[in-house]
Amino acid sequence: MIKVFLKRKIANRIANGHPWIFANEIDRVEGDIVQGAIVEVYYADNKYCGSGYINPKSQIMVRLLTRKKEQIDEAFFYNKILQSWNYRKQIGYTENCRLIFGEADELPALIIDKFNDYFVIQTLSYGMEVWKPAITKALQQIFNPKGIYERNDVPVRELEGLTQQKGFLSEPFNTNIIINENGLKFNVDIENGQKTGYFLDQQDNRRAIQHIVKNADVLGAFTYTGTFEIHAAHYGAKSVLGIDISENAVAQANKNAALNKLEHIVHFKAMNAFDVLKVWAKEGKQYDVVMLDPPAFTKSRATLQKAITGYKEINLRGMKLVKNGGFLVTSSCTNLVQPELFLHTIQLAAKDAGKKLKQLVFNAQASDHPIVWGLENTNYLKFLIVQVCDI
Ligand code: SAH
Repeated sequence: MIKVFLKRKIANRIANGHPWIFANEIDRVEGDIVQGAIVEVYYADNKYCGSGYINPKSQIMVRLLTRKKEQIDEAFFYNKILQSWNYRKQIGYTENCRLIFGEADELPALIIDKFNDYFVIQTLSYGMEVWKPAITKALQQIFNPKGIYERNDVPVRELEGLTQQKGFLSEPFNTNIIINENGLKFNVDIENGQKTGYFLDQQDNRRAIQHIVKNADVLGAFTYTGTFEIHAAHYGAKSVLGIDISENAVAQANKNAALNKLEHIVHFKAMNAFDVLKVWAKEGKQYDVVMLDPPAFTKSRATLQKAITGYKEINLRGMKLVKNGGFLVTSSCTNLVQPELFLHTIQLAAKDAGKKLKQLVFNAQASDHPIVWGLENTNYLKFLIVQVCDI
């Protein structure tokens, strides 16, 4: 067994439960390092810290899987996945859910989304990739699924020395599936959709618009497959226009509108939201409700300020498009923009727009993506509804 000894200085942070160990936090390694191998980690005073996997090619050299002195084998992964499934069932997420949310489920760099009988996996580190067959086997044993697919076509894998790839981990199946959410139906393209095909993290927030959209004229921007907008139509909106830059997303969104027989109320168009919001705000267009759900604006601290400027800009424009007394529904999934910073940015936008805001809802992601205190990265989604009034 390879043994990793930590420097004295960092022990506190890791002792408090954080699973990542950076290369510069390691004092020495005993044994020959094999990429992806399981290692035992010890504090500077030789006390056992935990076990995890090592990758000398990654800045995060070790990711801890356990704090107990236990065997890391197929059974370990089976038990972990079963435990996470039991937790999802306990908190009421069964049909569709994020079954494994990486570090939050103590399986660092592993994502598994469950779409009724189908599973989509991402193994985002070398050490987790090693266990992909064991993970697939566990899913087969626990769920007897109709299909398992890997969406490992993500650039972050290259930082780990892995290739980007996607494909079947089970017998091939039709990757265009339909899921139910809040009484509506949505097409999910497991093979070619964004990320794992569908954004489950907003599944509860989509219900939060129920009352404010009644009889409303609604504009949605960054709509992807149209989930929020179709919910708006379902909850009684008079008209809904959704815009997304991706032709493919717009085609799916219009298909989803038809699937729910709401195509007479909700329409989607392929447009650049940044341009459209600017032009329409200048033209004085007005909506009862404006909804914004842009993609992450940055993953690095170096460009954080640019991201904040981006949020301020689209929200300012969004607010200008809201009738006096109407509502802005706005989200941010940028990890580095923590909740207080997001609220502060919205406040600055309101000031510049000359608007007064009344807060209705401020949520994070659905609880099948647990927020673990002390693991900042797990608290990533901000979802805000405000009433927008003239000062
Ligand atoms: N609200 C969606 C998720 C949106 S993801 C849901 O709940 O499922 C963000 C979307 O923004 C993506 O579909 C992406 O295509 C779109 N997007 C990115 N840049 C854009 C731009 N400049 N204008 C319009 N849409 C954009």
